[in-house]
Amino acid sequence: MQTLELKNVTKSFGPLEVLSNINLTIKQGEFAAIVGPSGCGKSTALRMFAGLETPSSGQVTANGETITKPDPRRILIFQEHALYPWRTVERNVGFGLELADVPEKERKDRIKDILEKVGLSGFEKYYPHQLSGGMKQRASIARALVMDPDVLLLDEPYGALDAITRLTMQNELIKLWRGTGKTMLLITHDIDEAVYLADTIYVMSPRPGRIVQTLQADMPRPRNRNGSRFVELRQ
Ligand code: ADP
Ligand code: MG
Repeated sequence: MQTLELKNVTKSFGPLEVLSNINLTIKQGEFAAIVGPSGCGKSTALRMFAGLETPSSGQVTANGETITKPDPRRILIFQEHALYPWRTVERNVGFGLELADVPEKERKDRIKDILEKVGLSGFEKYYPHQLSGGMKQRASIARALVMDPDVLLLDEPYGALDAITRLTMQNELIKLWRGTGKTMLLITHDIDEAVYLADTIYVMSPRPGRIVQTLQADMPRPRNRNGSRFVELRQ
């Protein structure tokens, strides 16, 4: 578990100042969201936590340590789920475990367990092109979670999905989060999505990106025990 921090972070690409003096602290186990219009610098901020960008000035830290490179404790998930098209679901999900030389038996157990958690049991042998958009996104979440990261960094993960699938996936994400207590940092241009999912919301304004508002839920989200505001009506 990790506390993530941006301290007086400014980021420029050439003459373009994208982020201007950003400060935020995300506590371990928190579900936080950054919202703002397209182009305001949300992905840039997130990529810093993933170790894929460094600030022009200021500090980006996890538990007080400066983040300088990608780290398997913090995994980035984005809209273009980036599954390998030539690998089956189980081999996509197991890719990181293979790289980490996790023994085959343990690998299989962990893959099985995580596919159950995301609702993809039975689809082990499917290729990405045989899956729906929602299932692909489940597979990419499984691929991240199987590595047991402390932090999931979600870059508009549901942007490409239809409204119903998106709602289903949002509810599933809440359930997964509750079960693990991992830190979630979601970025989205959809304020409703942030309000629905997150307990803390940072609102950004563009050019250059600044945090103009920080909102904290003053009570638990209106969710039933399955993590949804909606209950199924029985006929
Ligand atoms: P958001 O995710 O909020 O839509 P981004 O963080 O992707 O915004 O981008 C913010 C701004 O920074 C945009 O104007 C974008 O063109 C610019 N930008 C992002 N990455 C780079 C880069 N590697 N080189 C130059 N400009 C970039
Ligand atoms: Mg973006």
